[in-house]
Amino acid sequence: MENIAVFPGSFDPITRGHESIIRRALPLFSKVIIGIGENRDKKSFFSLEQRRNWIQTIFAGERRIEILTYSGLTVTFCRSHNVRFILRGLRTAADFEFERSVGQINKLLLPEIETIFLLCAPEYASLSSSIVRDILHHGGDVKQFIPEGIDLSL
Ligand code: ADP
Repeated sequence: MENIAVFPGSFDPITRGHESIIRRALPLFSKVIIGIGENRDKKSFFSLEQRRNWIQTIFAGERRIEILTYSGLTVTFCRSHNVRFILRGLRTAADFEFERSVGQINKLLLPEIETIFLLCAPEYASLSSSIVRDILHHGGDVKQFIPEGIDLSL
């Protein structure tokens, strides 16, 4: 069985923190699927198409990265794509507490799933999509927080 991981998230927008986790995961898996989730309860700031286009630009030419969108449960998405690993990044103890419960519930829903956590690189520990959105909203410059080669200007 191939070692495929899905990295699920909203990526609203993708940040250097996400990019770092994805690049660090590449040597660990045969393929990384970036799963852009459509969250029923969370109205996104950027459209799904914008979010997907930016991710495509960042990883253009990387054959072992696939970008897919999905709605519904992450475990259902994993099952339908033959994926056994869910990849998540951990920044803080609060992330850990949240991820622990989601990961353990996912394990009950689909026992063959393993959630793999990568510790965030220290320079990205305070970085989140919501902070980037906030800076953008107030007209600030987000260049240092988002991957090179994409332009988020509104
Ligand atoms: P979600 O809404 O599912 O949390 P996000 O797009 O906010 O989606 O995050 C997706 C994943 O990326 C999560 O595992 C999150 O912990 C991780 N992540 C977010 N920001 C960073 C960062 N700065 N460094 C490392 N991982 C991060």
